[in-house]
Amino acid sequence: MKPATQFIHAGAHPDPTTGAIMTPIFQTSTYVQEAPATHKGYEYARSQNPTRTALEEALAIIEQGKYGLAFSSGVAATDAVIKLLNPGDEVICANDMYGGTYRLFTKIFERFGIVFKPVDTTNAENVAAAVTSNTKLVWLETPTNPLMNITDIEAVATITKKHNLILVVDNTFASPALQNPLTLGADIVMHSATKYLGGHSDVIQGALVMNSAELREKLYFIQKSCGAVPGPMDCFLVLRGIKTLGVRMKAHCENGAIIAHWLRNHPKVAKVYWPGFEDHPGHAAAKKQMRDFGGMISFELKNDSLDEVKRVLSKTHLFSLAESLGGVESLVNHPASMTHASIPREERIKNGLRDSLIRLSVGIEDAEDLIKDLDQAIG
Ligand SMILES: *Cc1c(COP(=O)(O)O)cnc(C)c1O
Repeated sequence: MKPATQFIHAGAHPDPTTGAIMTPIFQTSTYVQEAPATHKGYEYARSQNPTRTALEEALAIIEQGKYGLAFSSGVAATDAVIKLLNPGDEVICANDMYGGTYRLFTKIFERFGIVFKPVDTTNAENVAAAVTSNTKLVWLETPTNPLMNITDIEAVATITKKHNLILVVDNTFASPALQNPLTLGADIVMHSATKYLGGHSDVIQGALVMNSAELREKLYFIQKSCGAVPGPMDCFLVLRGIKTLGVRMKAHCENGAIIAHWLRNHPKVAKVYWPGFEDHPGHAAAKKQMRDFGGMISFELKNDSLDEVKRVLSKTHLFSLAESLGGVESLVNHPASMTHASIPREERIKNGLRDSLIRLSVGIEDAEDLIKDLDQAIG
């Protein structure tokens, strides 16, 4: 089946008792057993819930994987993956990542003796050079948040396979509509389902998808033991969101391309970060592994004083000033003071994230209206 069909039909089975076409919201904490340990596969809702089962089946199908696991948030999904490791184990990670991932790695898991080595993963040789006998896992994000750097997933997978390492890709920015890391050699795909999968800025949720039954067992055990499970209502919302992922991403990509080019030609704009530009350093890799370039764009103004940045951010109307991304409505964000404030300033600057950077999550409104809004704000 083609992705557009999968998004609508994956995990959807009419409810056997009523024929309801949508999987019901099974708002229950427990399930009645016929006799001790004789049940229908559902014992207690931290371990299993039918709404969650339907979503997990859908997640696996749309990411071209075998097993899906839904979590209470994206960072809860990341947390479960790192709990596969032991003190002394090393993780090679991207040096330009979502701020919350960086915070979880450095502020929580470093205390438990896990070692994180940030490298510029856009060059796979840097990953190979960082591998030691203690390395167990490689964590990639592509495109990255917020600098839109692209890592060639296949090139890194060659290295992780050679050294028997687990390769994880945070696929939040691309979504399964644009990129399927498992088909490129990744072992685990991670999502903040809060973003494009949910798509309507109304739910916090995370997801993991994998092919290995052994990894699935370990991650499910961690989830059941640590308890970061999503509620059935949230699972229902993400299941519903996935149905329109195909058409939404098409619209995000169309608007993204129009706005990226418009910004690039604007006399007051210094630099635009968007992998669809032919001169973007990751364009060739993006073209190889992505179906389109997405609706996330970052840019810098020629006048890069913070006052000017704040002036622009206070003047948009359609682009709401907010963290998050991937919803139908357009958002604007100032990474240095908002989404990425948890990364120390010198670390941010070293990795190319300037105080003046502005990030857009281009929604699916009419592109002309969005341009008018940006035009009057940039002035
Ligand atoms: C939002 C986000 C996360 C964290 O997900 P939550 O659902 O907010 O916990 C992880 N990675 C990326 C790229 C994100 O944008």
